[in-house]
Amino acid sequence: MDISKRERDYIVLLKELSSEFPVRISDLARASGVKEPTAYESIKRMEEKGLVKVRKGIVVLTDTGLLTYLKIIKAHRVLELLFVKHGADPDEACKECANIDYLISESMVQKAYNSLGSPSVCPHGRPIEVNVQ
Ligand SMILES: [Zn+2]
Repeated sequence: MDISKRERDYIVLLKELSSEFPVRISDLARASGVKEPTAYESIKRMEEKGLVKVRKGIVVLTDTGLLTYLKIIKAHRVLELLFVKHGADPDEACKECANIDYLISESMVQKAYNSLGSPSVCPHGRPIEVNVQ
């Protein structure tokens, strides 16, 4: 599925914030520094794509949204490792990988993952899920 950078950021943000409290569109707007109508437009589009559902003002990831999250995060962490291994600063790598982790194919991620020796964690010590498909 084609998603935009903003949609990618909302998916990740939504997953992270949801573990702490029920997330409203206003929370997403605040956390990403945009006006509420802007966030509303994005969430509408994401709902049409089947990535999120809005129930009584609370935004949640659908199964498709969650799967997309897992793919993004796996790509993100594998790419981070790859760049850090080649001399990049972990935080710098984190920032830049957020610009490509949602675009790169799973087969490419898998090749990088294998070449790195099937690592279990990213440079920040966060887990890399093996079976994401
Ligand atoms: Zn990162």
